[in-house]
Amino acid sequence: MHNKTITELAQSLRANDISSVELTQIYFDRIKQYGSLNSYITVTEKQALADAHAADKRLKAGNAPILTGIPLAQKDIFCTEGIKTSCGSKMLDNFIAPYNATVIEKFNAAGAVMLGKLNMDEFAMGSSNETSFYGHVQNPWDNNTVAGGSSGGSAAAVAARLAVATTGTDTGGSIRQPASFCGITGLKPTYGRVSRYGMIAYASSLDQGGTMTRSAEDSAILLQVMAGFDEKDSTSANKIVPDYSKNLNQSLKGLKIGLPKEFFSEDLNVDIAATLLAAIDEYKKLGAEIKEISMPMLKYAIPAYYVIASAECSANLSRFDGVRYGYRCDNPEDLNDLYTRSRGEAFGAEVKRRILMGTYALSAGYYDAYYIKAQKTRRLIAEDFKKTLNEVDVLMGPVTPSTAFGIGEKTNDPIQMYLADIYTIAINLAGLPAMSIPTGFIDKKPVGLQIIGNYFEEAQLLNVAHQYQQVTDWHQQIPKGY
Ligand code: GLN
Repeated sequence: MHNKTITELAQSLRANDISSVELTQIYFDRIKQYGSLNSYITVTEKQALADAHAADKRLKAGNAPILTGIPLAQKDIFCTEGIKTSCGSKMLDNFIAPYNATVIEKFNAAGAVMLGKLNMDEFAMGSSNETSFYGHVQNPWDNNTVAGGSSGGSAAAVAARLAVATTGTDTGGSIRQPASFCGITGLKPTYGRVSRYGMIAYASSLDQGGTMTRSAEDSAILLQVMAGFDEKDSTSANKIVPDYSKNLNQSLKGLKIGLPKEFFSEDLNVDIAATLLAAIDEYKKLGAEIKEISMPMLKYAIPAYYVIASAECSANLSRFDGVRYGYRCDNPEDLNDLYTRSRGEAFGAEVKRRILMGTYALSAGYYDAYYIKAQKTRRLIAEDFKKTLNEVDVLMGPVTPSTAFGIGEKTNDPIQMYLADIYTIAINLAGLPAMSIPTGFIDKKPVGLQIIGNYFEEAQLLNVAHQYQQVTDWHQQIPKGY
């Protein structure tokens, strides 16, 4: 049962081959069995079984939406009413959210069952899930390597079949990079496509929620529920949501694929390059045309991102002050002591580093030199994309510079860790949608292909991914032992 897709499970539930309660129980048994992966922070067994029971009733009554009774799990960045919402931090270890994020409300309305909350880097800052207060997540393909970050728990849970599908968030690569490391399908939608209401903010102009699934087909089903305008999020886009599943069988004849030469420079690992070129050959067989293009501004993405993301996080995280909610230090001497010790004791090293960098970049005298400059660079990067996406339909390239690296390998070198996002970050700066899909293995570790589309063209992206998944089976591989 745990190897079935959403569509297959929806059929099994309707054919009475299994009930949602039974299916949910199978997943809880697996979550216990594979607890050492550390993909979950909180497991919500009681609530899930009650919801599964309600879903079974709804299924019997007929006309239930496709996600009814399907066990999903949520990144612990989405607020869940009455349930701990930690964002991977000691700061929120005691925080029970008083309301649901819009995304959670939508899944509840669709009848999905939530198995629990997934491990992540603290406040989504990281590329390996090693900054989590709850410890690192193991990659099911090789337990000595990281699952990627910041949505490491979400990726590992899908790869190890500890949830049918999960959500993630992507500020600079946090859906795509762990998806690539764990051999699953990750979609970061256009900025504004999915509501950020109740999604704990890291860098508000970059954050976007999305899907982590086994296939593009499952991703289409999840996005259908998540996407759409939300008046509670002033940056959410008031645009029609197309039928993503219906659009999955379009021919790729004549599709123009752009390959930015900056993505395929000699810096790219040769084995990854060979794997990607094989995938691109597959696209040629499907009728696509390949065009080499150049995007000279891409090389400035990392510095621009780390100035902007740090600046925004320094402002966003000022709300965690020990007064309103979250961690509070013992016996503060005065207000200042309360602020400084609560923050000092509850934030981890990486979060502190970002707050310091961001505060510095925003301070008088440095604002023009760093923040304004980074914003101008961001605009140039977006223009680069705009120009190329006028010439081609989608862009393709690597997701990561290497396959999953060893646990502890980069923790003492923040710059090396930041470079793990070199191929994903520019897309967030431009606000575009992008996917990572499995395209092979190097030394038994998964490799992902990145597909980047134009604004609000998720339907096209999903179709481009789906067509490849119809003629290959990389996305169906299961790590040994799961
Ligand atoms: N690794 C990047 C960072 O640490 C991206 C994280 C993310 O997308 N949430 O900021």
